[in-house]
Amino acid sequence: MKAVSNNSKTKKWVYDFSEGNKEMKNLLGGKGANLAEMASLKLPVPNGFIITTETCAYYSENKKWPSDLEKQIQLHLTKLEKEMGKKLGDPKDPLLVSVRSGAASSMPGMMDTILNLGLNDKTVVTLANKTKNERFAYDSYRRFIQMFGDVVLEVPHKHFEEILTKAKLNKKVKFDTDLTSNDLQKIIVEYKAIVKKHTKKEFPQDPKDQLYEAINAVFKSWNNDRAIVYRQLNNIKGLLGTAVNIQAMVFGNKGDNSGTGVCFSRNPSTGENKLYGELLFNAQGEDVVAGIRTPLPITDLQKRMPKVYNEFVAIYKKLEKHYKDMLDMEFTIEDGKLYMLQVRVGKRTAKAAVQIAVDMVSEKLISKEEALLRIEPNSLNQLLHKTIDPKARVKAKVIVRGLPASPGAVYGTIVFDAKEAVDAAEEGKKVILVRTETSPEDIKGMHSAQGILTARGGMTSHAAVVARGMGKCCVAGCSDILVDEYDKKMIIKGKTYTDKDTITLDGATGEVFEGRLDVVDPELSGAFKTIMTWADGIRRLKVRTNADTPKDAEVAVKFGAEGIGLCRTEHMFFEGDRIKAVREMILSSNLEGRQKALAKLLPMQRGDFIGLFKAMGNKPVTIRLLDPPLHEFLPKEDTDIVELSREMKIPVAELKRKIDDLFEFNPMLGHRGCRLGITFPEITEMQTRAIIEAAIEVNKKGQKVIPEIMIPLVGKTKELTLQKEVVFKTIEKVLKEKKAKLDFLFGTMIEIPRAALTADEIAKEAEFFSFGTNDLTQMTLGLSRDDAGKFLPQYVDLDIYNRDPFVTIDQEGVGMIMKIAIEKGRKVKPKLKMGICGEHGGDPESVKFCHRIGLDYVSCSPFRVPIARLAAAQAVIEKKK
Ligand code: ADP
Ligand code: MG
Ligand code: MG
Repeated sequence: MKAVSNNSKTKKWVYDFSEGNKEMKNLLGGKGANLAEMASLKLPVPNGFIITTETCAYYSENKKWPSDLEKQIQLHLTKLEKEMGKKLGDPKDPLLVSVRSGAASSMPGMMDTILNLGLNDKTVVTLANKTKNERFAYDSYRRFIQMFGDVVLEVPHKHFEEILTKAKLNKKVKFDTDLTSNDLQKIIVEYKAIVKKHTKKEFPQDPKDQLYEAINAVFKSWNNDRAIVYRQLNNIKGLLGTAVNIQAMVFGNKGDNSGTGVCFSRNPSTGENKLYGELLFNAQGEDVVAGIRTPLPITDLQKRMPKVYNEFVAIYKKLEKHYKDMLDMEFTIEDGKLYMLQVRVGKRTAKAAVQIAVDMVSEKLISKEEALLRIEPNSLNQLLHKTIDPKARVKAKVIVRGLPASPGAVYGTIVFDAKEAVDAAEEGKKVILVRTETSPEDIKGMHSAQGILTARGGMTSHAAVVARGMGKCCVAGCSDILVDEYDKKMIIKGKTYTDKDTITLDGATGEVFEGRLDVVDPELSGAFKTIMTWADGIRRLKVRTNADTPKDAEVAVKFGAEGIGLCRTEHMFFEGDRIKAVREMILSSNLEGRQKALAKLLPMQRGDFIGLFKAMGNKPVTIRLLDPPLHEFLPKEDTDIVELSREMKIPVAELKRKIDDLFEFNPMLGHRGCRLGITFPEITEMQTRAIIEAAIEVNKKGQKVIPEIMIPLVGKTKELTLQKEVVFKTIEKVLKEKKAKLDFLFGTMIEIPRAALTADEIAKEAEFFSFGTNDLTQMTLGLSRDDAGKFLPQYVDLDIYNRDPFVTIDQEGVGMIMKIAIEKGRKVKPKLKMGICGEHGGDPESVKFCHRIGLDYVSCSPFRVPIARLAAAQAVIEKKK
């Protein structure tokens, strides 16, 4: 927190509304700055003044007011009294004010607004006499005691509610508007008694005391638990404090010719350009949102007070033109006169954000560039997946909550193992795969299931990463679930669910619902399409996708992918029966045995690549050769081992020994990546052959595929040259056999720091680089992605890393290494093609970074392609500014 100058004598702590504007949010808070802006637009805003956020910071630090504050408040109060022709506490004509909190960004955790301050046993009588409305006066006093008692004096709210409810019951009425002046006076007596009981003091009668206590309560609320938690959850850092707004009261509770309401200038959920709001007649403050009575649609105002309605329409249109954005407004009508009490840029769904941005361009309010900057790229996620029908959601019961690991909304019967998921899907059933956590063996089942629910693992757990890659809904790390895969049941808060039960997952929120909820389709046309076209017109970065199957590739192309940046061949090794051949290959003790097994795999791999090439048309496809440690493919269950021993004709004991031999202490730094291809060149050979044969075959049918073969986990140039020899020899051989010609590219992943630091050497042997930022992050930070989940959140809380480095690139560390590699690589080959294929390729911040350091493309999972397209466009616009 920035320390506030101690020069409390000369400093300006208080600003009149007429001295501020909307750019002064940091000093005056959002509410105050916008009230000042409306006042300067000559809109009907009750007068008032603002105590700055710096004052709150001073108070938090010193536990007292700056020495000059009281004088400054007094000066502004006197000015306000003059303007209003009333005086605070004046028994002949009292000024009443509201005291409202408001920080730079909207924060629901802070102090609730106090209305009608300045009322006491005497002024309430004057108010009744002057307005000739006794009921109104006592209603206001009753509300004031309740709010002040609750918020400032900390008398539990429920005591006031009890008294009010009892009064209504006694009178046999439903609403507080049905209570008479007499009823209200009795309530006030009881209210004051309850205050005295709790505080051991009379309810404060001196308006100056009331005001000062209220101001202090606002200051204190900045550091109450609610506010602190809210700031943590929403990652709000570096604010000074809250401002305090003191504003002359206007009254919506004077009768049926008065009222109060809230409005959005456009529909915040769909974006439709139509005023959207609610109001209540004879009501005050938060009545509308508090659900005291059912509010009326804003059209009722049009019917009952057409003049006021038309005035409001003129005001909101003027404000929209001025703010050039959709607005959220609060207003009050006193005896048929309209007052504006708040305005701010309105929160909206992604759908509305896109619609409003596009509409405002055609209304010539904003430029295309501004429209593109208005949309949070990550929010597009909401638009690309199915979502729960809002109508169904209202009645639905959330049984448990986990991490929103991969968006989408799905329902299905529970299954507890991957194989069952596959079988069920073949029978056309919809299932949800529930696991404690998933492993590579579950991939097929994950594919077949509608969605995945796990009890353990974070946002970068196996389940989460794979599900996002597949565009499959996933709720992960639901620690309140006890999964018993063996007995096929899960227990949530004491209730047992079996494979007979149906559940619904919302992967965007992490909610799990009982039973089947209706879901609705995403809409990729209309405004969404327009925004994407604009983004494509501006961005420089190309956007590719990470896809391993024709189906994923097709989805990605629909979302605008311009190629495949990463095809992980190992995922193909788990499909159907081929895992057996893969295991046979791994466990053979000699070259011959391995070659025999690889021969079984060849036609299947070739088929995979043909499918992929076809799905991608003439777009570039980068294929990475085998990468993971071999043990990931080995059988773990005894039954599988026995079956395999029979097939391979070796004793079970020997097979088990072989499996044990393959055990690694640190597999991620073990026998994997190009190290496999170097010790078993026949694997590289088979994969290369499959790729080249597939390319020749589709090209015969008129396509023009240029495959890009990529070697993983290179650290030394020699590794790359050794693999290059195998690849090039194989290609030569295949082309000769087939009497064919083919263009292809040969390149490498840059994912070991050593490779990045010697990129000039490596570039001599490569035609492209692809930064594998998952491994590069692990190795640069020395941080295991699979283990970091246990302490990384705390690291982020402590600001050791300000973001999860597996989600957003660590720009100073990993990013620096990338910059070095780019510079060194381009020195040798100025046109060297470079991209990124880690999970970061779909993270907006990281995409922008990739733009700035001059990469040619990013590659991300299919469902993140539109997000990357938008972020890439924003990167260009932001750089221009
Ligand atoms: P929040 O930050 O929760 O939105 P506000 O400060 O906007 O709280 O106050 C809530 C409501 O109180 C406003 O919407 C308005 O209806 C009412 N209110 C606040 N100040 C005044 C005032 N000076 N006169 C009349 N009503 C007011
Ligand atoms: Mg408000
Ligand atoms: Mg890697």
